[in-house]
Amino acid sequence: MTDPLLSVENLQTYFFTEDGVVQAVDGISFDVMPGELVGLVGESGAGKSVASTSILRLVEDPGRIVGGRVEFKGETLFEIETDDEGTPVENEDATPVETDESLSQQEMRRRIRGREIAIIFQDPMESLNPVYTVGGQLREFIEINRDLGKSAAKTAAIDMLREVGIPEAPARYSDYPHQFSGGMRQRVLIAMALACEPSLIIADEPTTALDVTVEGQILDLVADLQEKYGTAFVWVTHDMGVVAEICDRVNVMYLGEMVEQADVDDLFYDTKHPYTEALLESIPRPDRTVEELNPIAGVMPEAIDPPRGCRFHTRCPDAREACTRIDPDCRVVEDGYSPHRAACIKYDAFGNVGYDASPPLDNETRSGVDVTLTGDGGHQGGDDDE
Ligand code: SF4
Repeated sequence: MTDPLLSVENLQTYFFTEDGVVQAVDGISFDVMPGELVGLVGESGAGKSVASTSILRLVEDPGRIVGGRVEFKGETLFEIETDDEGTPVENEDATPVETDESLSQQEMRRRIRGREIAIIFQDPMESLNPVYTVGGQLREFIEINRDLGKSAAKTAAIDMLREVGIPEAPARYSDYPHQFSGGMRQRVLIAMALACEPSLIIADEPTTALDVTVEGQILDLVADLQEKYGTAFVWVTHDMGVVAEICDRVNVMYLGEMVEQADVDDLFYDTKHPYTEALLESIPRPDRTVEELNPIAGVMPEAIDPPRGCRFHTRCPDAREACTRIDPDCRVVEDGYSPHRAACIKYDAFGNVGYDASPPLDNETRSGVDVTLTGDGGHQGGDDDE
């Protein structure tokens, strides 16, 4: 079997604020195989973007990676040292200790970022400098990262603009970012990400700000380029429609934790986790006719004070008393051609932890969170065991 291109293991990234510790990413693991398009999905606040920037070690103060390991092409990008019990080791000033195998920030800059792993952000205007021409910025990026001379880098930049579908690329080379539409600017960022032919591109909600027609064009472009270059993608999104269109495998996050991992078809047609079910109930789907959509009940709690037990229990239609005590890990609940993982104690894979015998939760006992579950997507207490 092929080794993963990227392996994220038990990643933890916290933000140390005056109000307390925000557990933005709390122990997630996932793999990306070479050439694969993997979705990282969840509502705002689920921790998807923090997870993406953590992979490249771009977390800004007061954030800090406090646990876990990331491996890329068999090389450790970083690993937080643990003691015999698996607890992360800290220095005297409470900063986590990295193992000797971890790359320095300088090595990350020189060898990994841009060259091996590129990132595309949601807002192109944040990534493009408004006072420099689009072509000049792309040329400079290629010059630095591909060690090309100015003239060769300019030719390569124009080729890349053409490749991502910018019409009249030589003429548009000298335009400024504000002279491009939102979709065109996003194409420029894709060109920049592809310029060094990286093995992996992390795309953080790159189509969220675009209208659906332009979004569709960008998704088609990404699919074409992925096929041509064999680049793997981690596609961060809250949009299940985008997931259905382009992803091979999907990771669903909720409040800093991984709750479901599956092939895209299994995720849509054999959904295991109540949160994923709720996400799918809340969007229109071409394969189903529904009277009305069911938004997910309640709001996501704060990651500064996550609910005890299963973090989704305050909104879960299937929640029972046992769910307030047990915080399930994301484990294999169905082994098929590809393992299907879910973090939910109603499955046999968790053994007899008292789910079947415990009473359904009512609205008052959901950790004091004011959630009233209504509609088909939110029946109180749930049916009997599945
Ligand atoms: S563990 Fe309980 S609360 Fe959590 S998803 Fe499963 S049924 Fe819902």
